[in-house]
Amino acid sequence: MIPSNWYNIVPDLPAPPPPPLHPATRQPIGPDDLAPLFPMELIRQEVGQERFVPIPQEVLDVYRLWRPTPLMRARNLEKSLGTPARIYYKYEGVSPAGSHKPNTAVPQAYYNAQEGVRRLTTETGAGQWGSSLAFACAQFGLDCEIWMVRASYDQKPYRSALMRVYGASVHASPSPVTQAGSKVLAEYPGSPGSLGIAISEAVEVAASADDTRYALGSVLNHVLMHQTVIGEEALGQLEEMPDVIVGCTGGGSNFGGLVFPFLREKLAGKIDPVIRAVEPEACPSFTRGRYAYDFGDTAGLTPLMKMHTLGHDFVPDPIHAGGLRYHGMSPLLSHMYELGMFEAVTRSQRECFEAGVRFARTEGILPAPEPTHALAETIAEALRCKESGEEKVILTALCGHGHFDLAAYERYLSGEMEDFALPQERIDEALSGLPA
Ligand SMILES: *Cc1c(COP(=O)(O)O)cnc(C)c1O
Repeated sequence: MIPSNWYNIVPDLPAPPPPPLHPATRQPIGPDDLAPLFPMELIRQEVGQERFVPIPQEVLDVYRLWRPTPLMRARNLEKSLGTPARIYYKYEGVSPAGSHKPNTAVPQAYYNAQEGVRRLTTETGAGQWGSSLAFACAQFGLDCEIWMVRASYDQKPYRSALMRVYGASVHASPSPVTQAGSKVLAEYPGSPGSLGIAISEAVEVAASADDTRYALGSVLNHVLMHQTVIGEEALGQLEEMPDVIVGCTGGGSNFGGLVFPFLREKLAGKIDPVIRAVEPEACPSFTRGRYAYDFGDTAGLTPLMKMHTLGHDFVPDPIHAGGLRYHGMSPLLSHMYELGMFEAVTRSQRECFEAGVRFARTEGILPAPEPTHALAETIAEALRCKESGEEKVILTALCGHGHFDLAAYERYLSGEMEDFALPQERIDEALSGLPA
């Protein structure tokens, strides 16, 4: 069944998360500071204290195109590993855009349309968020303008084609159409771009037009809350409760969406799973970043958020998991990580693709490069169970399919794919640019 509410974990936490700060005054921001960028209802949800927020009927009507999503047991994968563990995955690749992102794109487009907004701007990394927002804007009659990180724009031409089919206009970022983009291009003409740069471009355009607002596909509290439909459905679908829950983290939305409902049950003392976030070796914000106030974008236009960050100047190597190439992390998850509510580990690009190929050959579904991080960790956990003989129940989110990522899979299969070890000096250098 599709849940009728989203779950807001904030009121259930042992301590409240630190507030976002105004970039100029360094005081906590209020609703008025966010009003040029977001509609009021989303601002309310961002700071809301109700545990459950009803999902509007118009949003449920669109969710029904693909929800509830399947919860599957990976029996063939278990057999190929020879593990006594039982592996379950919640498959979000059945959505129109092929990932979990429409779960938040649809309500964001809906609330903007309700409040009279005509156009949404956004950034996209791998292209999954861009195609999700383009789809959602088409559902509610909004224009959509998208800045797509150059590295992905070149690697994945069919993603921008899909956005255009849904009616959006798409720029490669950095682009010459904004000040933020022009500045980067002047300094570094061959820039592969980054989510931080693309966010600056989309925010700049939204802030300068009255009928235009900005939409973010991850990181923020309301985005993670919309994604809790994943975990709520899984709670109802599972026949046995998980011992281990594993998810990949870029900005943290599919992970938060999967684990928050389980954390609610854990905080209530009903279950006790180990919860583990997996990030790329090339962009390790939880495991090697600093917990500090930083900007969400490169140009410093966004509020300052306290989060695990590699520094807003950090440009990650062009790994194929474009959705995980973000310098920061959800402030809410960062706070919860500091509270010790879950663990985090990293995985290298090649071991992730190895896991993705293994999953495709056993379960038949081709995973997006992002969730192969969760699969690599799931497989490692299942192999530890094989050593110890423990019959653990493992749950993961297969948050998207990889049909647009076949060029990357071909590189992996032909042996051309590289790993990017991240030297400490690059992190130190980017962290030296953190705001004082
Ligand atoms: C965007 C994306 C991610 C990364 O974003 P999160 O907010 O961390 O979930 C991961 N997987 C897929 C398939 C994505 O599209």
